[in-house]
Amino acid sequence: MTRVYNFSAGPAALPESVLQQAAAEMLDWRGSGMGVMEMSHRGPQFTQIAAEAERLLRELLQAPANYKLLFMQGGALAENAIVPMNMLRGSASADYIDTGEWSKKSAQEARRYGGVNIAASGAASGYTAIPARDTWQLDPQAAYVHICSNETIGGLEYQYTPDVGEVPLVADMSSSILSRPVDVSKYGLIYGGAQKNIGPAGLTLVIVREDLLGGALPCTPTAFNYQVVADNGSMYNTPPTYAIYIAGLVFHWIQQQGGLAAMEAHNAAKAALLYSALDASSFYSTPVARECRSRMNVVFRLPDERLDAAFLKGAEARGLVQLKGHRVVGGMRASIYNAMPLAGVQALVDWLREFEKTQG
Ligand SMILES: *Cc1c(COP(=O)(O)O)cnc(C)c1O
Repeated sequence: MTRVYNFSAGPAALPESVLQQAAAEMLDWRGSGMGVMEMSHRGPQFTQIAAEAERLLRELLQAPANYKLLFMQGGALAENAIVPMNMLRGSASADYIDTGEWSKKSAQEARRYGGVNIAASGAASGYTAIPARDTWQLDPQAAYVHICSNETIGGLEYQYTPDVGEVPLVADMSSSILSRPVDVSKYGLIYGGAQKNIGPAGLTLVIVREDLLGGALPCTPTAFNYQVVADNGSMYNTPPTYAIYIAGLVFHWIQQQGGLAAMEAHNAAKAALLYSALDASSFYSTPVARECRSRMNVVFRLPDERLDAAFLKGAEARGLVQLKGHRVVGGMRASIYNAMPLAGVQALVDWLREFEKTQG
């Protein structure tokens, strides 16, 4: 068996030991005589699996007791609607910080449910920088302030948690959750699809402060009402059981690696290795302002896009796959989430140097 270094932005690579364990338990989960996919979500085995996943997640995030951890479905794009439905709570509007493709989508969807104030936008910089906090035009009456912690397509990431005062901060953390420690108490709500840093597609995490529950718009589908989901322990309807099981194995793996502080050190080292190789070259270029560079999604370009196909072909021959950038920004993108080993980034750096030599 040959495994490649998979730089996909999502669904993305998972830790090999997790896949091995899942394979070993596929037909018979710990003497139960059945696989996890075949279990009743209300049976004793799966109840244990889900409780353990939630316990580990709470521990990793050090989430305070007044936060609910919800296992939902629909992905971040569904949350773009579910968040305003649940979080407007009688307010006329919410503030959105526009930093690229994903936050733009969030704001567009929210407009279907209430007023949206774009309190700051990176459009003027071509989305190469996150507008400085002191330029944001926040509305103190806003229901919440929405940010995208890591713009997966543009390759921009907040390196700090913005202070927005008393108004709840809501973050789409799809592509950065569990990549570094986070002070959950600074957020009203955090959401994210699992398929970047956590597990299979199909599972959506929501971490929400208890006092914000209970004010959903009447049109909110019952299965997407946070209060209902919380009151039913994420089992109002059948949850994505297999995805929760794999997420639990990933949480356990992260804990074994040393938790989120260790993940951050590992991710910072990988990003530094790759960005410094790109910076040292006059052949490759990186569009994003240094202080906003994502540690998860490294966006770069070759000097001429006619070279892209040869670069990608050579990369693939070396087992380095999924490096093509998103069609909206073009160029290349290396997604280096938690499960990407340093050796994978080193192999990419070696290929960057080799390719440059053959062209230069
Ligand atoms: C991938 C991604 C999305 C889209 O998530 P879906 O699970 O496909 O709905 C939204 N926001 C961010 C930041 C993402 O990385």
